[in-house]
Amino acid sequence: GEALLSVRNLEVSFQTYAGEVQAVRDVSFELAPGETLAVVGESGSGKSVAAKSLMGLLPDNARVKSGEAMFEGHDLLKMSERRMQGIRGSRISMVFQDPMTSLDPTMRIGRQLTEGIRKHLGLRGRAARERAVELLKAVHIPNAEKRLRQYPHEFSGGMRQRVVIAIALACDPQVLICDEPTTALDVTIQEQILELLAELQERNGTSIILITHDLGVVAQVAHRVAVMYSGRVIETGTVHDIFGDPKHPYTWGLLTSIPRPDDDRKDDLIPIKGSPPNPLDPPKACPFSARCDYAMKVCDIEMPAMQSFGGETDGGYRSASVHQAACWLHHDLAPNVEPPARVRG
Ligand code: SF4
Ligand code: MG
Repeated sequence: GEALLSVRNLEVSFQTYAGEVQAVRDVSFELAPGETLAVVGESGSGKSVAAKSLMGLLPDNARVKSGEAMFEGHDLLKMSERRMQGIRGSRISMVFQDPMTSLDPTMRIGRQLTEGIRKHLGLRGRAARERAVELLKAVHIPNAEKRLRQYPHEFSGGMRQRVVIAIALACDPQVLICDEPTTALDVTIQEQILELLAELQERNGTSIILITHDLGVVAQVAHRVAVMYSGRVIETGTVHDIFGDPKHPYTWGLLTSIPRPDDDRKDDLIPIKGSPPNPLDPPKACPFSARCDYAMKVCDIEMPAMQSFGGETDGGYRSASVHQAACWLHHDLAPNVEPPARVRG
């Protein structure tokens, strides 16, 4: 099918006292209608920066150096702040890790819920309040009428995140970007929030970009996955491709460092040794080579190109879902290498 959002060759850097940090390097991905794309990687891999650049929410010292992000025929990266304001919170909404950063502690929940409704939908008074009640019900907050008059501190952490999701959904966005939405919550609440997102997606057909470092979360809710490392997408595919037939040694490392969904043994987990490259001076060739057990000479000379694999066709629905990885191991002349036993399952 047609992509709803198509990001091509995105490059973002930051000016810092220490020099230029290359946060996002040549990132491309597509988002289909109604799908959940998980962007997974360690902190500092560039996943949040990539998302913020789509929303025009980069800090002043950041600069989009190149690329495009096509949404409904327009490039989000070239939009004026005024036009972006009409899209942000209405066509594309964002949910962050800490609900308190998106809620105003001095304002009643009802007022915060109706702000977007008034601004983007032009609803006022009773109509706006009815929509607010409807939204709280949709995110399963009981006693909606009473809750509207309360302040954020009167809600638990999980309930606050539900409110934030309700605000994000107020104008029926086509894209919901969730940046570590459950990281601050305990496991039971985390489950509930993920179930809620899946339910809302099912009902409204919203596309979700889910940014997370947690492969457990990915396995649970994602349709497709983009694995980021050192500012680059190093592997992308369906959730079945990534968990069932991963191609990149970094993805292998991620998978061997967490319990498999079907096997909760923790005794043979292997953390990835070493640390990511310095973003002030990232390698020109494969960014993973210093940590890779399979590194060859060529890996430090030239960046491997993205290669496509068979991938899954999901009844044609996600035809853009090609399985791709950037690794020299898949070059015709490379030696034949098997992934670690734990990855093979
Ligand atoms: Fe390892 Fe080379 Fe593949 Fe990079 S390109 S992940 S160093 S084998
Ligand atoms: Mg982040």
